[in-house]
Amino acid sequence: MNTKTKNRDRKFFGRDGSPELELQRERGSYLYDEEGRKYLDFTSGWCVGNFGWANEEIEDMIARMRHPTYVKPDLLYKPWTELAELLAEITPGRLQKSYRATGGSEAVEAAMQIAMIYTDRPGFLSLEDSYHGNTLGTLSIGASSNRKAYRNLLPHCHKLSLPLDEKALRRAELRLRSRNIAAFIMEPISCNLGVMVPDAEFMEAMHGLCRKYGTLFVADEVACGFGRTGKLFASEHFDVEPDILCMGKAITGGYASLGATITTEEIAEKIEDQFSFYSTYGWHPHGTAAAIANIRYWLRHEDELLDNIAGMSRLFTDRISRMRFKYGVTVCAAGLAISADLLDPDYAGEVREKCFDEGLILDTNDSKLVLFPALNISEREAGKGLEILEDCL
Ligand code: PLP
Repeated sequence: MNTKTKNRDRKFFGRDGSPELELQRERGSYLYDEEGRKYLDFTSGWCVGNFGWANEEIEDMIARMRHPTYVKPDLLYKPWTELAELLAEITPGRLQKSYRATGGSEAVEAAMQIAMIYTDRPGFLSLEDSYHGNTLGTLSIGASSNRKAYRNLLPHCHKLSLPLDEKALRRAELRLRSRNIAAFIMEPISCNLGVMVPDAEFMEAMHGLCRKYGTLFVADEVACGFGRTGKLFASEHFDVEPDILCMGKAITGGYASLGATITTEEIAEKIEDQFSFYSTYGWHPHGTAAAIANIRYWLRHEDELLDNIAGMSRLFTDRISRMRFKYGVTVCAAGLAISADLLDPDYAGEVREKCFDEGLILDTNDSKLVLFPALNISEREAGKGLEILEDCL
């Protein structure tokens, strides 16, 4: 890493922790640093570059789209209509009307505001230790530990602790029964909780409780959406119909920043006069073009991508389950959202660091290794990364 750049970065650039590599370029599942070193990226930039970095087909589509520098939000802009229509087509259930955002946090923030206005209720129920973004609103529904640093987070935000079992359902019902809860919000398959896949019974019962008590069911698909879990949206694994669904990250594959919040016609109509979610750069023309190209790419290649996700998910799961980790391993996977619980956070950190030194990038969540490889990763690349992982044990 260039020491001068690193020192200037430390002095002028606000960030969490310190950078591990200086990125020069990326292609497919690989990142290259400034010394030309090659790294296999098993994170996809944390669920962003789902269709591989520098995807030529997507880049060509984006390059062919001509667009203005900026569009003032009260003007008509055909690509906005087109993107909104595409989102209505590809999202599950009766979701129809989309609102603009610059990223995931804004998308979830909009969902919270829509739910408050629609239900005329102040409260939220979410999963303990979850992550839904970085605004004060979204931090309020995230981990309760945030409240130590930010004393002014929203009141009336209640948390449901794991595991998501019968007892959790009973606790949830006690909350919802107050008819004070505007929305229950969760990642249908939680990437942020180290790939937590809830039981179908829990999801369906929870959805039923929301219906019973007039609480909106909000799916935060910012990380788990766009094919990551083996369906375009993770909600589709369950017999539930979200009232609001939030998108971000892989919606543009990393080519630009964009978020979206989609809801039903009925909800959109009822909130129309009160809800105004202004976002100056929401759906900037660059982002809109990238999202349209990215969604078209999925629609063109859906079958082969789904096949690859299923095949690679089996490969990762089988190989990792057979590796000799110090204290054993429990693998959990939904498509190419994969975690391997190594039962010791320090050991997981050590393995991650060794892998990095050998040119494999993966993430950790407490005692788990967390992997989000590109959805079009080849068997050879997956095998190579898994070999590095095994050699690092
Ligand atoms: N929701 C989930 C589930 C996320 O994982 C994230 C980001 O990691 C967000 C919301 C916030 O998205 P952004 O960082 O684009 O604001």
